[in-house]
Amino acid sequence: MGVYAQEGEGPVGGNAIKMDLIIASRDVVAADATACRIMGINPYEIQHIKIAEERGLGNVNNMEIVGEDISNVKRKFSYPLSNFKRIKYKILDFGMDFASHLGGTTEEKRAYEVITKLMRTNPVISKECRKCQRCIGACPVGAIDNNLAIDYRKCKACMICVEACPFHAIKSKEISLLLAIAEMTICVLRVASKAIRGKLYK
Ligand code: SF4
Ligand code: SF4
Repeated sequence: MGVYAQEGEGPVGGNAIKMDLIIASRDVVAADATACRIMGINPYEIQHIKIAEERGLGNVNNMEIVGEDISNVKRKFSYPLSNFKRIKYKILDFGMDFASHLGGTTEEKRAYEVITKLMRTNPVISKECRKCQRCIGACPVGAIDNNLAIDYRKCKACMICVEACPFHAIKSKEISLLLAIAEMTICVLRVASKAIRGKLYK
């Protein structure tokens, strides 16, 4: 018994770490930043925290910590990503940063659509499946049919099915590094081209 966290590959493929710790705050950015510091991660390395603070949703630094002292509960967590995947996510981080600077331009919506597409992870049922059908009932949008085929037009990529599978038979399928580089390059070139032609704000 106790309160466990997870390090490494989520949502269910990592290592359980007994922390016996609960973090709570009215400021969601401060809560996430505190969790990062406890895990030995610079909060500014995590794009959603960085962008949330830039947008005034909360504070990464200006906060009062009550209860446990971070130094007493700190523990280095391993990252979920291999070096290869981390390169890809660095590209996606760049994309998020890039898109966040396009507010008010004609390319803002398209840039976020590209990033959303690149960040999406699809569930894939592997040959380890034992056909217990638990994932069918677990899917909140009915995206898995009785033949265990996933309708990706319905699928919201919530990964509840991954967590529901008792045999770890549903894997996550991400876009390739090459595709991420190609899509981001096209996105940047489109913005540059429009800026040169004076059409970025029309
Ligand atoms: S829950 Fe897992 S084992 Fe059961 S049908 Fe779905 S993928 Fe197969
Ligand atoms: S990821 Fe979510 S929406 Fe998609 S099939 Fe699995 S449970 Fe359904």
